[in-house]
Amino acid sequence: MPLTNVQARDLATILHPYTPLHTLPQTGPLVLDHGKGVFVYDTQGNEYIEGMSGLWCAGLGFGDEELIEAATEQMHKLPYYHLFGGKGMEPAIELGEKLKEIAPMPVSKVFFTSSGSEANDTQVKLAWYYNNALGRPEKKKIISRMKAYHGVTVMSGSLTGLPIVHGDFDLPVAGVLHTDCPHHYRFAEPGESEADFVARLAANLTALIEEEGPETIAAFIAEPIMGAGGVILPPEGYFQAIRPILAEHDILFIDDEVICGFGRTGNWWGAETYGFEPDTLSAAKQMTSAYAPLGAVLVPERMVEAFEAESAKLGAFGHGFTYGGHPLGCAVGAKAIEIYQKRDIIGHVRKLAPQFEARLAKLADHPLVGEARGKGLIGGVELVADKATKRPFDAKAGVAGRMVKFAEARGAILRPIGDTVALCPPMVITEAELDLLFDKMEAALNDAEDWVRKEGLR
Ligand code: PMP
Repeated sequence: MPLTNVQARDLATILHPYTPLHTLPQTGPLVLDHGKGVFVYDTQGNEYIEGMSGLWCAGLGFGDEELIEAATEQMHKLPYYHLFGGKGMEPAIELGEKLKEIAPMPVSKVFFTSSGSEANDTQVKLAWYYNNALGRPEKKKIISRMKAYHGVTVMSGSLTGLPIVHGDFDLPVAGVLHTDCPHHYRFAEPGESEADFVARLAANLTALIEEEGPETIAAFIAEPIMGAGGVILPPEGYFQAIRPILAEHDILFIDDEVICGFGRTGNWWGAETYGFEPDTLSAAKQMTSAYAPLGAVLVPERMVEAFEAESAKLGAFGHGFTYGGHPLGCAVGAKAIEIYQKRDIIGHVRKLAPQFEARLAKLADHPLVGEARGKGLIGGVELVADKATKRPFDAKAGVAGRMVKFAEARGAILRPIGDTVALCPPMVITEAELDLLFDKMEAALNDAEDWVRKEGLR
């Protein structure tokens, strides 16, 4: 198809993040114009059901009047202020109070950032600062996991465990270690039960800690469900096996709830869905339903006390971002949480989860699908060349990317992650809309199957 004028201008101007730049001139950018509910529309008026909530973030869908009103009001009242040097403002205080109230663990204070990457970058700096304050300057390494996604800044990108984020960027930096990815379908030994798999991963984590020396390890970071690594659900008992190992070695457990937070898995937090209590927590994305950029780090009392003592020595706590706690983001965030509560969005996710999981389970029968997995309203299907052996397609064939393009042509936005097609619709989706999304997904899988056969990709 020939490019439209706006597509040509896009190609000439935008360096697209996280995009196959080499094929974009052929596939063409999809330039969006407006959105309403769970639908977005491109500049030519084509309608798409948004199966990814943008980037797992627009949980309340598009055009929510209450959020727009909260943003507009705040822009008129105080469009900018900051929290440096002891300045304060009502929207940040209100959102901080709400976060403390709903947090899955005791929280003393909230540190605001503008994004998830900044939140996780901050987590590492706080862990380092904390251990310096406690007089143990050698306790600094951070353990993350293969296939984790924690952001793309120098440090959060180092925590991320994906080759494409490390590649030519010279990451990860020193002091970041990656332990096993808890994906039973992909990484279990033949015949290994979930329980044995969990026991092996826990033993590997212990071995890593002992090898490095627990006195050198500051923190462990994990997403409850690994999102951008391929929607990987932890096996039963995984966090229960990991948690005591960290506590035993005084290693902080950083819970990255950037995707799972605010109802996505059927509870406020993934930590509740999977039954663990972290030490600190990173939030972003659905905190504002993505209507404004905002991230947050939830900090426990013992860390705040250490920061206050260290500040007395150094003269100040020397960390902060110009837009951290931006009043627009905080006003929208406070309103989003109010909406999640008063419209019982979590109840709605729970109500739809059986339908979501049943339709996912049905996709598992498709000849292209090796594993279909999901929880609440987040899921993924992993495409394989051979269902029996789980043999993946040649990565160069880009089968998941192709399938997502077929879905786009049918009016559904999904996301390819390696061999997995992710879906994470707005939490306000209706039962009928959810069926529509799955109908389009099924049709796109059939298109992809026809294409695979035609190309002889098996
Ligand atoms: N953590 C997780 C779990 C994420 O999914 C993401 C973004 N996909 C980030 C951190 C980084 O957030 P941001 O893109 O806002 O920097």
